[in-house]
Amino acid sequence: MRRALSPNESHDSIFNIELDKLYRKGYRNILIDVDNTIIPWNADSVSVRLREWLGKCRNLGFTICLFSNNKSSRINRLATELKVLAVPKGGKPLKAAFRRALRHINGNPQNTIMIGDQIFTDIWGGNIMGLYTILVNPISTREFWGTKLNRFLEKKLAGRGEPG
Ligand SMILES: [Mg+2]
Repeated sequence: MRRALSPNESHDSIFNIELDKLYRKGYRNILIDVDNTIIPWNADSVSVRLREWLGKCRNLGFTICLFSNNKSSRINRLATELKVLAVPKGGKPLKAAFRRALRHINGNPQNTIMIGDQIFTDIWGGNIMGLYTILVNPISTREFWGTKLNRFLEKKLAGRGEPG
């Protein structure tokens, strides 16, 4: 169980990810969660730092796609603003959802990375699909009530926050 819930890498934030190393390893696509991974939950403001980070991803040659369970209007608006692809109302962690996202970006499990802040949606689903998974700490503690429940389970079942 724990292995299915363990990310390949974990970082404090997306800004600590070694993008060039991942590109050299052959990864070409990034599926990235939105709420609490790149912006605070349900926020719409985009930081300069995030724009620069996305620019860096693009310059390296990555295709980026927002992959969120949140509603279409908001995620699509963000994607347009950030000039990236989007798969809203994703249905993570279901395999069908990840397949749909891979089709959307024309990617495959061997060349695609999943980045997110939640073990039971982003990481578990990514692992089931065979993607390279990266867990980051949530940006803020403000969250959807369902997420709060998941956090409790992350601690209990996945040992998140435990040393080592
Ligand atoms: Mg999230």
